[in-house]
Amino acid sequence: MLRINNILILFLFSFTGNIISAQDNNLKERLQTHVKILASDSLQGRGLGTDGAEKARDYIVGQFRDAGIQPIGDDYLQNFSFRQSLAWIPASNIVGLVEGNDPVLKDEFILIGAHYDHLGYDIRNDEKRIFFGADDNASGVAAIIELGRYFAQNSDLMGRSLLIVAFDAEESGLIGSNHFVDNSPVPLENIKLMFSFDMVGMYETNRGLHLRGMASLDKGDELAAVVAQRHEMILRQTGENIEGRTDTQPFGSAGIPAVHVYTGQKSPYHKPEDQYHLLDYDGMETIHLFMKDFLKVLSHESELRQSASLIASVLQESTFAGRRPAAGFLLNTGTGFHRYPDEFFQAKTLLNVSAGFYFQVPLSQLFGLQLEALYDLNGSQIDGGNFRRHSLTVPLNIQFGTPGVQGQDIRLFVFSGPYYRHTFAGERAGTTLDFENDFNRDEWGYTIGVGLNIFRVYMGYTSRRAVTDLLKSDEIKILDSNGYFSIGYRF
Ligand SMILES: [Zn+2]
Repeated sequence: MLRINNILILFLFSFTGNIISAQDNNLKERLQTHVKILASDSLQGRGLGTDGAEKARDYIVGQFRDAGIQPIGDDYLQNFSFRQSLAWIPASNIVGLVEGNDPVLKDEFILIGAHYDHLGYDIRNDEKRIFFGADDNASGVAAIIELGRYFAQNSDLMGRSLLIVAFDAEESGLIGSNHFVDNSPVPLENIKLMFSFDMVGMYETNRGLHLRGMASLDKGDELAAVVAQRHEMILRQTGENIEGRTDTQPFGSAGIPAVHVYTGQKSPYHKPEDQYHLLDYDGMETIHLFMKDFLKVLSHESELRQSASLIASVLQESTFAGRRPAAGFLLNTGTGFHRYPDEFFQAKTLLNVSAGFYFQVPLSQLFGLQLEALYDLNGSQIDGGNFRRHSLTVPLNIQFGTPGVQGQDIRLFVFSGPYYRHTFAGERAGTTLDFENDFNRDEWGYTIGVGLNIFRVYMGYTSRRAVTDLLKSDEIKILDSNGYFSIGYRF
């Protein structure tokens, strides 16, 4: 009965010219085959840097070639390596291209991606457990291969160009997709939208398809809804938030609208039971037909723009960039002198130096907090010689300045705040200071200054003024005062 129905439906569609075309009645079979092979015993869970991963790579490259997807450059591989504990792990993204057909829009790209690595295997009690990763993410790889095949064979249907990318090293922290964003083979600003197909084999169980982050494309959710209606497709979670746990993350951070195509965490997630026979291949076919239509529509849209909130979030990220909590070394050289606020004169200056560490915490785009701990040699010329103190000085300053320039950490700011100074030794014209009877060990005051960060280097001018008296007696008031040029280096 079922079979007759299918034939009847196909027969009818061949007349109505419906989007579900009769000539591709092997689609579901091919999707199944891809998953079956990628999640088979012989690929051993496609663990990083293993033979299984290499077999997966060969298979995907073979499928790209067979599908008529073009390589970018000499071959499909974007090779890289990264450090994991002590070892360098070799890895490869697989990158294919279908050129668009619109003379103007073809310089812009829509990227469809899926990671092909999984967890590999482990050995417990002499027993090997393979993590097959059928839903995660043989399903996504099957999806992009077949979408790539369709558009390679029907490239006249695409306005913009299509990048098809199988990412490596996703499970180790989105390393493949980060590498791609940092080393994009096409100008990154020309990638207008990306989809990460990650776990798409559970449509029926999930009662729909998540397009997480769809609204990070301006009006993307509305466009998706229109196309979904044509396919009686159930869409869920089409909001603006870009998923951080799949390959959408580095694209979103780079300001590219990025969508996680996902049928929920319905499979035995990251367990050996995530296997070929559990997936919903009818559902994968449904998703394919919807995405095919949707990609066509997107590729011809006159403009693909970021949503306002994506622009805002990227702006915020970039102004904080380089403004994470930071620590560094600080050296101050300048002069100091004693002020006598009740007299009409003041002492002559003496060379003052201080050195130590600073710790900086950004509070917002414009404000920051800086704590310093300095060994401080301060003093003044006085009648009959020099006055010197060896102190520990601890300033706490609020900084107010320009937002950092994106990715460059160039920043100009003013600062002010209180300082505390504890003196542990000193001398006055050759005589040791008597802290029992004559001099205060503890001093409070305030700092004002101006600073400039250029990458790791800090330069600035600092003025420090005591508000508490140097002397214990009330007869005459002496206030310490210093001015420093500072140079610093961030660790
Ligand atoms: Zn995954």
